Amino acid sequence: MTATIINGKEIASQKKVEIAIEVQKLKELGITPGLAVILVGDNHASRTYVTNKEKTCRDLGMYSVLIELPEETSQEDLLAKIEELNGDPAIHGILVQLPLPKHISESKVIESISPLKDVDGFHPINIGRMMTGQDSFLPCTPFGIMVLLEATEISVAGKHVVVVGRSNIVGKPVGQLFLNQHATVTYCHSRTKDLQFHTSQADIIVAAVGIANFIKADHVKEGAVVIDVGINRNEAGKLCGDVAFDEVSKKAGYITPVPKGVGPMTITMLMYNTLKSAKNTLRF
Ligand code: NAD
Repeated sequence: MTATIINGKEIASQKKVEIAIEVQKLKELGITPGLAVILVGDNHASRTYVTNKEKTCRDLGMYSVLIELPEETSQEDLLAKIEELNGDPAIHGILVQLPLPKHISESKVIESISPLKDVDGFHPINIGRMMTGQDSFLPCTPFGIMVLLEATEISVAGKHVVVVGRSNIVGKPVGQLFLNQHATVTYCHSRTKDLQFHTSQADIIVAAVGIANFIKADHVKEGAVVIDVGINRNEAGKLCGDVAFDEVSKKAGYITPVPKGVGPMTITMLMYNTLKSAKNTLRF
């Protein structure tokens, strides 16, 4: 079998067109969705991410502001900035780019963002609402994965999903979203014994490990759907995922490539969440 490639770039482009139309409608009502991105310090990868987020915002007609703070910024000053943005009516989404310098508590920062503007979906209130199936901002990468599957018309209910990785930003929430859609979910992680035993039974595998080419053909059942979240560099410095694409794509039914798979969906769902937050202000 040769897998069908799930083209995340194309699906993300379609979603962005839909978002831009909605942004336009909202602007006609006098509301321009606004996203504030805070970058503390000068991490090269983080800078690339925030630049992309800003550019995408502008491309879709939204307002975006980048707040750059020096590495030595105190936690108190960062929290004060967030408080100011919480009260700013032009800002509907606040994103603090992670990781933060070691002297700042990520959980304190995340908890200081108003849950109504938490477009990353990391605030405990939004996580709790997601877990209990209530309306909330969904974390962007997990949300993007569900949209990819929906756009590809891959049904989830009753499927056995094996999530490899249990981070708070990808593994844990994506498993919860699958559960919300009536899948049977198994989580695997660094302490899992006999990973292959679990993954080889999966109808859908989500690889969120952060190790280049970690999931091999032997891990995968014939015809399975394989979602690769990883963003790694191989020995040659080439961008690659957590899945050994060449061998797994010969066995899987569907597979996401890296790049042009899950990655473009993450930023798109951030835009979706910012639009949603702006629309929510119409209710008040
Ligand atoms: P993380 O380091 O926080 O978590 C990695 C997880 O992998 C851990 O839960 C750990 O238990 C598990 N793990 C480690 N070794 C393992 C092993 N031998 N067997 C099974 N499980 C093992 O990483 P993260 O933040 O969840 O990110 C995972 C990957 O996804 C990274 O490559 C990251 O760059 C990428 N990522 C991509 C996007 C995107 O938009 N495409 C977004 C977030 C993260």
